[in-house]
Amino acid sequence: MQIGRWNHQGGTSGANKSSRGSREGSTHRGSRSRSFSPSDFAAAGRPARGGRNFGPRGGRGRGRGGVGAFGQTEAEIAKFVNRAVVTTEEPVFVPEHKFTDFDINPRLKANIVAKGYELPTPIQDKAIPHVLHGQDVVGLAETGTGKTAAFLIPLIDKVMKQKDERVLVMAPTRELAVQIEKELAGFAKGLGFSGMVAVGGANITPQIAALRHNPTFVIGTPGRLKDLMERKALNLSTFGTVVLDEADRMLDMGFIDDMRFILAKMRKERHTLFFSATMSREIEGLIGDFLESPTVISVRTRDTSKNVDQDVVRVPRGTDKFEVLAEMLQDRDFSRVLVFGRTKYGVEKLSKALSRRHIHAESIHGDKTHGARLRALEAFKRGSVTVLVATDVAARGLDIPEVSHVVNYDLPSTYEDYVHRIGRTGRGIHKGKALTFIEG
Ligand code: AMP
Repeated sequence: MQIGRWNHQGGTSGANKSSRGSREGSTHRGSRSRSFSPSDFAAAGRPARGGRNFGPRGGRGRGRGGVGAFGQTEAEIAKFVNRAVVTTEEPVFVPEHKFTDFDINPRLKANIVAKGYELPTPIQDKAIPHVLHGQDVVGLAETGTGKTAAFLIPLIDKVMKQKDERVLVMAPTRELAVQIEKELAGFAKGLGFSGMVAVGGANITPQIAALRHNPTFVIGTPGRLKDLMERKALNLSTFGTVVLDEADRMLDMGFIDDMRFILAKMRKERHTLFFSATMSREIEGLIGDFLESPTVISVRTRDTSKNVDQDVVRVPRGTDKFEVLAEMLQDRDFSRVLVFGRTKYGVEKLSKALSRRHIHAESIHGDKTHGARLRALEAFKRGSVTVLVATDVAARGLDIPEVSHVVNYDLPSTYEDYVHRIGRTGRGIHKGKALTFIEG
């Protein structure tokens, strides 16, 4: 195991907080601030068309970036400029516990060892003791932090102690549900209980049949779980524990009503675990609604923005920013580019306009079906498209390796959105680049 991977900031949260600090004193007037003018892309140059083509909020008379955008004043723009500090060596995480320290069944411990896990990751180190004590837990952790085992290990121990206990796991996608079940199968080998996957896009009949055997763990997507409940195949009154995994993604994918429906059918005095990569007002609201005095554990990793070279691209009045972008994307260094737009409509239009210029682009936004979003994402990951145009919401939680550049074609709404956007690049030890278009 690469223990060095599991670095963290000791439970303090906030890429946002620390990145603000790191940017203090940076200036947009530095020599790195680029200013594109029509002569920079003379071949492609065209007069501006009012600056409204792809940024509906950027219309005349509304000021730079439109109403409600972050980056309208020079002080705010200064926050978009920062030289990356590339830390090739990340601090090594030293866990407080060993798996052998946890008060869990020895047969489960043997399975953990058999899986090759030597030491707990930060989220496991911090969450497992609380879950073992039956506390509600909020885990702020991304995929790749070991969060799955952080809830599976103590919950397996729980069902071994309480024979009639059953666990429901809700996850946003079929892929994640399948992955959780696989991990469960490894830990649960020979322990005498079973789990099943209940996801949409698959035949419901075998799922109904599997539920007749009263599996101890049911892992599913909210839509299909609700469907199974309505068909009376799944009765949640016998489930005392629920895990909401990647709750922010479930919210983004429009599962909120199904989640509420499902939780309303569970016992009020249940044990609830809630995992999310991001924290927002909506997520805070859900935590307040669904959990009882939870312990909050944050292992959100390092200040991602430190690894990202940030700069602004000034687009003078009278210059069409689409042309600036199209010209920029000709550069070979822009090998895997995530472009952010403010609206679903603008994002779709921009990706089509780029495609017409023979720049391989795809889009992801809330008006696309889940399947279409996944296909776009896969094409981007594979490298068959070099540009992915996205809205903030659609891009949340995406784990795409080696994004070379993040381009803020439209300004973000808030500084926090900005930090989320640029966090898509400069992952791990890679240095990333973020460019923010400033018009006018
Ligand atoms: P997750 O964040 O749960 O998707 O886990 C990411 C990957 O890390 C998975 O492949 C896990 O099998 C692996 N993993 C989780 N916990 C540990 C651990 N304590 N030691 C080694 N690998 C782990």
